[in-house]
Amino acid sequence: MEQAIAYPSGAQEVAHALAVAGFECFAVGGCVRDSLMGRAPADWDFTTNATTDEMKRCFDAAHIHWASTGERHGTLTAIVAEETFEVTTYRVESSYSDGRHPDKVIFSRTLGDDLSRRDFTVNAMAYAPKAGIVDLFGGQADLMNHMVRAVGCAHERFEEDGLRIMRALRFAAVLDFAIELKTAQALHECRENLSHVSVERIFSELSRFLLAEDGKRVAELMREFPDVLAPILFSDDAMSTNEQNGSAWENAATLVAKTPPDLAVRFAALFVGLFAQRDTASQGDETAHAAHAERAAHAACAAHDMLRKLKSPKRLASEVSRLVGLASRSFTPTALGARRLIAACGSEAAVSQLLMLYRAQGRAHVEELEALAREQAALGAPFSLKDLAIKGDDLIQLGMPSGSEIGSCLNGLFEQVVEGNVANEKSALRSLFFSWRSGISR
Ligand code: ATP
Ligand code: MG
Repeated sequence: MEQAIAYPSGAQEVAHALAVAGFECFAVGGCVRDSLMGRAPADWDFTTNATTDEMKRCFDAAHIHWASTGERHGTLTAIVAEETFEVTTYRVESSYSDGRHPDKVIFSRTLGDDLSRRDFTVNAMAYAPKAGIVDLFGGQADLMNHMVRAVGCAHERFEEDGLRIMRALRFAAVLDFAIELKTAQALHECRENLSHVSVERIFSELSRFLLAEDGKRVAELMREFPDVLAPILFSDDAMSTNEQNGSAWENAATLVAKTPPDLAVRFAALFVGLFAQRDTASQGDETAHAAHAERAAHAACAAHDMLRKLKSPKRLASEVSRLVGLASRSFTPTALGARRLIAACGSEAAVSQLLMLYRAQGRAHVEELEALAREQAALGAPFSLKDLAIKGDDLIQLGMPSGSEIGSCLNGLFEQVVEGNVANEKSALRSLFFSWRSGISR
């Protein structure tokens, strides 16, 4: 399956600058994998037998800008027309005593050494226009068979660096590949080595895993590797015994499978499956209603806590938490229900995310609710106080003392607009404000 890979022009310049000085320079890793799969590579990485000092001389001679980004690891970043290319000296695998970072960096003059330190066969191929594809570990065959397979002994590779465990799951999900048997076994055996990986890296890989195009593949992997994935969420708390077990995890997988690839929605689906059992209580039962609201609040809080523990961006944690809290609410498919939905969500994006979640839950009337929400938004239904036709400054001008009461007054007006008791227009809101004030002073 020998194929030429088309370098973008910047990449050609970088490779040429090294080649004219007699050095080897290969595109390597993700860009080769993606090119062979017919996907556009996100970035181009190169590997070379030149040292960073030798690279600098070559780039200077070719008038290519470079930045010293990771010289200790043998990496220089070449910059051509604002595009950046990481070029790294061949390296050999050294020992890992902490389960994550090599003890020292050892450079090599041999491409084979460099390829053998890479994680998976599909990521361990190199390409240069003259040499063609260098594939020492059967990467092309695995690519054709849609297989994630560790380079060398999977167990040893996951023991060396726990991050590879998450990467294996991420590539299996994103590429929609199977995980080769021994590699899969080693994922189970070495799962505890994930504890040596920083939460930031785990969060980043987990996010990419969850964002795979096909939610069904994410769900399959959740079912195949609960022992690897569940402890990431339930790191140290007591809930692990309850929620981690069977049915909650299965609920989460089922829900994730039905969601489109939106990060907040996928995370929300995961947490809704884990925490928020659908309510069986009958409508109108006050105690059941209160218990239901409490469970929703608990689920929203737990989701927020877990994401913050994983060092998720605050914004994502809030978005997910809000979705989890709303996942167990119901909005009737009426103009009023749509306005309540809009106000509860707070933004157009959150409305569409919540509706994605409702679809995944198999709720009735989602399409109607969506159409109504669009209609109500177009009619000026407010998502948040920002959209209210009257502002704090207006109330001050109308004689209200500045202070915290302004906020509660605005909230009160907002509520009345949502409930349809007053139009979202300045004059109408002013009148209502005056009637409230005269009511109070009477
Ligand atoms: P993408 O850029 O789409 O995430 P990628 O394969 O390029 O995929 P990078 O994280 O950019 O992934 O890494 C570039 C290459 O470096 C990989 O293809 C792989 O060969 C190697 N690599 C990255 N991380 C590891 C690791 N933890 N252990 C071994 N090799 C790794
Ligand atoms: Mg890459």
